[in-house]
Amino acid sequence: MSTVHRLFVDAPLGSGLSVVPAPPQAHYLLGVLRLKAGDTVELFNGRDGGWRAELREVTKKSAQLHCTAQSQPQEPVPDLWLLAAPLKKGRIDWLAEKACELGVARLLPVETQRTVVDRLNLDRLHAHMVEAAEQCGRTAVPTLEPLTSLAKLLKAWPAGRRLLFCDESGGAPAFAALIAAGPGPWAILIGPEGGFTDQERALLRALPDVVPVSLGPRILRADTAAAAAISLWQAALGDWRA
Ligand code: SAM
Repeated sequence: MSTVHRLFVDAPLGSGLSVVPAPPQAHYLLGVLRLKAGDTVELFNGRDGGWRAELREVTKKSAQLHCTAQSQPQEPVPDLWLLAAPLKKGRIDWLAEKACELGVARLLPVETQRTVVDRLNLDRLHAHMVEAAEQCGRTAVPTLEPLTSLAKLLKAWPAGRRLLFCDESGGAPAFAALIAAGPGPWAILIGPEGGFTDQERALLRALPDVVPVSLGPRILRADTAAAAAISLWQAALGDWRA
């Protein structure tokens, strides 16, 4: 059975609707995959689920993708945010890709006192998440927020959203803490390569919705810690439960 290629498009999807892919996507379909009129792809836009689409009006450089049937409903996305300090280029890309594959709903890059990276290419990060969603079968791509200071985010923290504060200096065992706290809106906070300052630690631990946890006896790289914490959350409270 030939693989059905998946494409993220920023256009409405529905029975009888057609989408004209952007030139780079058209080149990928026609030039790289060498798809022809009548071939099918799966489209998703993060809102309308997955849709089988047939290639029509194919020319050398363009085609119409005509929605024929819904292939999967829009996924229910667990209400999990990831707050992560930006990391050096390759690592933040990897972190964004894993956050998408592991089912995060929203990625909020946060500037902390020891964050060394102060510029983020949001388009590049979004492209990594789109590619991850195309590959892993998601019909949603995490919402990506602009870089914001941790202090500003905490000042306006939404009441009732628990914040799993992954603290390299120690805390409750993460999995047990998640089970004890129970389901609901959550966020995970991962610090930069330099970790959190004592001032940040005190600020966080004073907040009612914050759950300070340890991810074990070893100091993990920030990207590893993010993937580990999201996996724990999905297993304890998310959509990895049977
Ligand atoms: N420079 C810090 C140090 O040596 O203690 C390490 C920071 S670590 C590279 C980056 C982030 O990953 C931390 O701020 C924390 O959010 C998370 N992290 C890493 N290991 C952890 C652990 N064992 N428990 C909880 N969080 C951890």
